[in-house]
Amino acid sequence: MKILVINAGSSSLKYQLIDMETEKAVAKGGCERIGIEGSFLKHKANGKEIVIETPMPDHKVAVKLVLDALVDKEHGAISSMKEIDAVGHRVVHSGEDFDKSVLITPEVLETIASNAELAPLHQPANITGINACRAIMPSTPMVAVFDTAFHSTMPDYAYMYAVPYEAYKNYKIRRYGFHGSSHLFVSDEAAKYLGKPKSQLKIVTCHLGNGSSISAVDCGKCVDTSMGFTPLAGVPMGTRSGDIDPAVVEFLETKTGMTTAEVINYLNKKSGMMGISGVSSDFRDLSAASASGNDRARLALDMFAYSTKKYVGAYAAAMGGIDCLVFTAGIGENDSFIREKVTDGLGFLGISIDKQENARRTGDIHDITAAGGKVRVLVIPTNEELVIARDTARLALGK
Ligand code: ADP
Repeated sequence: MKILVINAGSSSLKYQLIDMETEKAVAKGGCERIGIEGSFLKHKANGKEIVIETPMPDHKVAVKLVLDALVDKEHGAISSMKEIDAVGHRVVHSGEDFDKSVLITPEVLETIASNAELAPLHQPANITGINACRAIMPSTPMVAVFDTAFHSTMPDYAYMYAVPYEAYKNYKIRRYGFHGSSHLFVSDEAAKYLGKPKSQLKIVTCHLGNGSSISAVDCGKCVDTSMGFTPLAGVPMGTRSGDIDPAVVEFLETKTGMTTAEVINYLNKKSGMMGISGVSSDFRDLSAASASGNDRARLALDMFAYSTKKYVGAYAAAMGGIDCLVFTAGIGENDSFIREKVTDGLGFLGISIDKQENARRTGDIHDITAAGGKVRVLVIPTNEELVIARDTARLALGK
């Protein structure tokens, strides 16, 4: 059985074809600059990568090119489109309408569209990707897997903001959380690795990448998460501010003459590690700059680690304990310095890591707990595509 996983952005479309027998990708790649001059497809299968530069005026043309690449005699991974049993789509926002993945029907698509205003940059692109696939593969079942769904189990006192209740009722203003597939995947993997049922574990999962979020997972259920109404909230990120006092928005407008939209863009694109350091949003560049004496790069890294550490402590308190701390995504999986700084001083919670083990890179699940450490600290490579493929196989094919 093979599942095609699609992650459509406004001008991009990433894909993986996953063989569910092995749960491995047999082909993967992406189209970039869709609808813009200079579009190209990067496709990898059988250990080889090809790049096809060709005009892609819209997502439908992009999907057709992906399918052509997948069945190509030389570069493909399957002999016909019929070998794709189902398609799983990453969709950013479920609103309050879906608490889990769902088989896509015309009614479901309408509901997804009704939540587009909650994620105006991403949701319309996700819908475009779904429509493009439906046009080209009308009889292939499709499933929507939401970034927010794993967080739907948060209790009301964790997801509500203390704004007038009518703002929640009328405009759906509340915490939703994102990166749900990743938090679900790594918390499940942690339980498997520790050989314990999820019902016995209190886990804090740190998804630290370009966008970062921390979640509290109690008995397999998310009970709190650091991102909020949008992915701008929580810890400072590559270019995002994370949590700030909302009064700053109006103050900046008055001082600079920026419009509200410009200030929000400033907080999304010009802030975070990039804004503080003035060097880069990439942690590799920041580490190098900090090591060579750049104090603002040092400050950015300190702020990131401090903020992440505060969430770990807060979520241990929220759950009344912590059994396991997980690091994942680009920074969580690769940056031993950040892992060390986040865990430093958390011995009072039973969290301490083995520095030598932490410095070792394995690319697999990796236990970095210090000898005698009460809380298991794990580095777990995330695999959001596999979560999408598994849900798709289950919902579309009953497998
Ligand atoms: P996205 O949120 O775009 O999926 P990723 O999870 O791939 O992001 O994380 C990307 C970030 O991970 C990069 O910006 C970089 O800061 C960080 N990163 C990747 N590799 C390393 C590394 N070897 N050391 C430190 N940081 C890394």
